[in-house]
Amino acid sequence: MSNPFAGIRWIWKNGQLIDFEKATVHVLSHALHYGSGVFEGIRCYNTQQGPAVFRLLEHLQRLESSAKVYRMPIAFSTEELAEACCETVRANELEACYIRPIVFRGLGTLGVNPLRSPVEVFIAVWNWGKYLGDEAEQGVEACVSSWRRVTPDSMPATAKATGIYLNGQLIKMEALANGYAEGIGLDARGFVSEGSGENVFLVVDGALITPPVASSILSGITRDTVLTLARDLGIPVREEVVPRGLLYSADEVFFTGTAAEITPIRSIDRIPVGRACPGEVTRRLLAEFKGITSGEIGDRHGWLYPVHSAVRAEVREATAL
Ligand code: PMP
Repeated sequence: MSNPFAGIRWIWKNGQLIDFEKATVHVLSHALHYGSGVFEGIRCYNTQQGPAVFRLLEHLQRLESSAKVYRMPIAFSTEELAEACCETVRANELEACYIRPIVFRGLGTLGVNPLRSPVEVFIAVWNWGKYLGDEAEQGVEACVSSWRRVTPDSMPATAKATGIYLNGQLIKMEALANGYAEGIGLDARGFVSEGSGENVFLVVDGALITPPVASSILSGITRDTVLTLARDLGIPVREEVVPRGLLYSADEVFFTGTAAEITPIRSIDRIPVGRACPGEVTRRLLAEFKGITSGEIGDRHGWLYPVHSAVRAEVREATAL
């Protein structure tokens, strides 16, 4: 496998850019032992108007609320973090890339109590292509996992914490071991929850259905994007509990996520989904999503955050008119 970090020279650490090689942590860092970190996954697109980060402020607000749940104070404001993300993209001379801010408990003391370990903030960027494989747009094969998602009273699924991804790793590795690209976890009651790193959508009789936040899901920003685009297109949308059986009888099923974007699912547990993959509704949503992220369709919801501040100022001026 080629090195995804080849050519990356700078990483942002607690307020300044440092060499990629120097962006290391101590082996006794709290987060390494106890999963005490929160993070984000954000995409920057090379739009016709220049590189722009997709829904940057919403991602940073989710980072802040994840940190709040775990009582981690972040020493930077949303605006400072937004500028830091853009600065890291610019310093590495990237256009389309993935941005990974991470906030974690570093080297202090060990023991479960995290409060005596300092809160560190890093931002890294790298090139990341199709998360679920190069052919993902033609549809991936998924399975229902034997692992359940966390219960609402054990860990908040709405906080994007590093530790919770151990559950995701079990789901992912089981799927890969059985020849699938991804697994779908069920919630504590047996209803459909989400993939190891994606939300799930179904199309049934022309309506778009996705599990509610109460089904132990991360409240995905791509999920919100797809719900918004569907409403724009006049497609009926419902956030409601999804019984497992509906996955097999739905006309279309797809994953959404920053890394996975919109990825159609062609079969679940080897049962083909619908008649064609991608189906009609998935195709319409994909076209709209690609149009906006490429800059070919106007950014009517203000989702693109230009990396260069001069472009940002231009956009602000144009929208204020
Ligand atoms: N669920 C999980 C468990 C995830 O890791 C992700 C990826 N962040 C998502 C859903 C999708 O969220 P988003 O669209 O905000 O990337």
